[in-house]
Amino acid sequence: MSSRKPFVGGNWKMNLHSDDVAALTGALVSAEVDGAKVDVAICPAFPYLPHVHELLDGSDIMLGAQDAYQEPDGAFTGEVSLAMLQDVGVQVVIVGHSERRHVIAERDELINAKVLAALGTGFEVILCVGEKIEQREAFKTNNINAGQVCLGLAGVSREQMAKVTIAYEPVWAIGTGKTATTQDAREAHVAIRKTVAAMYGDEIADQTRIQYGGSVKPGNAAELFAMEDIDGGLIGGASLKADDFLAIVNAAADSTA
Ligand code: PEP
Repeated sequence: MSSRKPFVGGNWKMNLHSDDVAALTGALVSAEVDGAKVDVAICPAFPYLPHVHELLDGSDIMLGAQDAYQEPDGAFTGEVSLAMLQDVGVQVVIVGHSERRHVIAERDELINAKVLAALGTGFEVILCVGEKIEQREAFKTNNINAGQVCLGLAGVSREQMAKVTIAYEPVWAIGTGKTATTQDAREAHVAIRKTVAAMYGDEIADQTRIQYGGSVKPGNAAELFAMEDIDGGLIGGASLKADDFLAIVNAAADSTA
């Protein structure tokens, strides 16, 4: 049994408007998540961060952002800096989500710059990696993940690794209702942990949390989180409903029992 505390993130993406954001946050706060057993972060869209920060006051739930820009200030129209996110109480930043890699065309170099800037500013970072379906079918899953991990973490120090969580999110499983089998997910997680071990040694690899993401639902969460190398999840669709997200959070908390 690993000593890693599971970590469940709710990625709300470009969903939910003001009233829904308030209602969902209120429901999660009143459920009193057990922060001793599981870390939880919710990641609303940028405009709602200050309000969600207020609503989370006194709760163990962390506030996360879905992205950030690596430059501190200046002529970067439309971007949001890490210092700005810090001003509104954000603690966790998702970097390299597959929708940013494959819809917005972010490259590994940019993702690495964001990882370094976020860690340098003191944030927890969730670095997302994962293969596309054609890469899985060509048996390239582990190579793709290893490449994204190596490039994403280039220049990250051993000390900074304490603030890094890796989210393994097979692209074909995100928002599609298709989930990797627990065995496929576990194999990918084991391979990612080996990559981290090759970069930082066994001790840091053993401490690094690797979340699974890709159509996690209340019905499959417990089985996934029971796997030794799966340390919670990054949840999209199911994080938009309080009951579903709480069931997934509880499955993660119970996986340590
Ligand atoms: C995600 O957005 O990171 C994700 C995994 O989405 P979903 O749970 O909807 O597949």
